[in-house]
Amino acid sequence: MSSDANTPVLRNCIRLPLAEDELLEVTAKAKDYAIMHGAAMRSKTAFSPDSLNFAPFVLVPSSFPRKEFEKAVALQPIINRLMHNVAHDEEFITTTLAETIKVDEFTANLFNIYRKVLAHGFTQKTSLGMLRSDLMLESGCPELSPRVLRTAAGEDGGQDAGAAVGQRAGVVVAVGAAAGTGSKEKELQQEQEQKQKQHREVQLGRATKERERRANGVHSAYCCWKQVEINTIASGFGHLGPASKTIQRFVLSELGHADKLHNMPDNNALAGLCDGMVKAWDIYAKPKAVILFIIEDVSYNICDQRFHEFYIRETYPHIKVLRRTLTEVHREGKLGQSKELLLGSQEVAVIYFRAGYEPGHYHSQAEWDARYLMETSLAIKCPSIHYHLAGTKKVQQALAQPAVLERFINDPEEIKAVGKIFTGLYSLDDNEAGNASYEMALRTPERFVLKPQREGGGNNVYGVDIPDALKRMSRVERSAWILMDLIHPPLTKGYMVRPGGDMPPQIVDMVSELGIFGVVIGDAEHIVHNYQAGHMLRTKLSTANEGGVAAGLGALDSPYLIDSDDEDEQK
Ligand code: ADP
Ligand code: MG
Repeated sequence: MSSDANTPVLRNCIRLPLAEDELLEVTAKAKDYAIMHGAAMRSKTAFSPDSLNFAPFVLVPSSFPRKEFEKAVALQPIINRLMHNVAHDEEFITTTLAETIKVDEFTANLFNIYRKVLAHGFTQKTSLGMLRSDLMLESGCPELSPRVLRTAAGEDGGQDAGAAVGQRAGVVVAVGAAAGTGSKEKELQQEQEQKQKQHREVQLGRATKERERRANGVHSAYCCWKQVEINTIASGFGHLGPASKTIQRFVLSELGHADKLHNMPDNNALAGLCDGMVKAWDIYAKPKAVILFIIEDVSYNICDQRFHEFYIRETYPHIKVLRRTLTEVHREGKLGQSKELLLGSQEVAVIYFRAGYEPGHYHSQAEWDARYLMETSLAIKCPSIHYHLAGTKKVQQALAQPAVLERFINDPEEIKAVGKIFTGLYSLDDNEAGNASYEMALRTPERFVLKPQREGGGNNVYGVDIPDALKRMSRVERSAWILMDLIHPPLTKGYMVRPGGDMPPQIVDMVSELGIFGVVIGDAEHIVHNYQAGHMLRTKLSTANEGGVAAGLGALDSPYLIDSDDEDEQK
């Protein structure tokens, strides 16, 4: 879905293909290495709580431009602060989700909990945010297309082209800070022109880069990146992110490329996230209180969860982790005299949700009651309900509109830097702007992805499937969805190793999605901790729309940082 003949290819960190006997040997070793280092999952087809399969992985690390990786890492604390401020802005959350909750029952249920908590006041003012900002390289990035082409595309006559991206798509949203000037019709027309211009630029940028690449016989490493989404609940891969590096480090060393390991950046995601939970536990300040993980009925991605638990026990031997489903919390949970959450006789200091982000996790009113009970308790939640709502696609879409960031970030440089990470995001609310987006999606569906307010993968509608999906909805139903420009990541070529897959594996075309973790702790007035906490890379076949590893489409990967187009990495 995300590639065509013009899609640039990032050069590999080592020369491929490998000789077949070498490939067979290293792949067999790497599979065992993965299982024995916990890069594993429960089988969905032959589930047993007593056994594991290795998680699918990419044999050698995929290349990623160093500059863009470092930019993403550096930006994370700003994104943390942005999301913390958004979560604490009652008016913004309420206005932004107003139309959505009329038609999206799940978001409405979450919002009802929020409303009730607001009415009674927050028992616990401190929130623990453990975020993951997901991004993809954009191979047709307008900022990077040569100036002459920008001018040809009607660009700004020499201003910072990046600013044009930040200003993209002037959809008017119903928040005070986003109000524009001039007549709506004129704005809509300008918006359309702007979008067309940008689409042209993307095409031009990609075609030009490909021509240059072919002419020079090198593989372009030049791409900017765009945010796919921001996760505020159950941001997984704190263990599998670093574990992917460990496998690929082993493989590169086995293949005689130990000299290249320095290009694989450190990844302390597990420690960073678990330390975040423990910092929240410290704030709660009750030595006997436990950390509670909220889990699904069946956890296929068990290693990623258990390694968090094991890290906490090993690093902080006095802290206990409990695992409970929402159903179990409903059965066992109650509030004590000071609204502390009690599971039997155990007091809960911190709640870490690895479930509760999709309707299927709430089998009945009992699970919603459990969520509300936890929300009204004294425990510090990751996420608390306002953080969960701040992570909806609708809020991401609203944040990408011009001038909205000013509401949450003071520094103009930071506003500019964050503005650049958004690709086109469009409301489908039942108003003039939303209806214009609807028409645009019907006209050029191949440019877009259509997203509902859901997490966990498998919910989006892509490209040519969009018109049918939209036409089945009423005008009002559309406001449960947002429209987003498709990002066109460059390709990498490599071996994807899957349980039960071909041996030896074949070389395939792949695309990657990088996730940067962030931890932020604080209340409405103060942030007390704010840091970037490692990363994860997921890679999928270039033909697949989505790449969830647990869903079976993606594979574990880790970035191999490359610097420029002219250095020969293929020795
Ligand atoms: P979810 O909350 O279900 O993870 P995402 O917004 O992350 O939803 O979308 C799921 C997947 O769809 C992503 O991991 C990515 O592979 C693909 N995807 C989402 N948005 C885009 C986009 N704008 N361009 C290209 N691919 C996208
Ligand atoms: Mg996602």
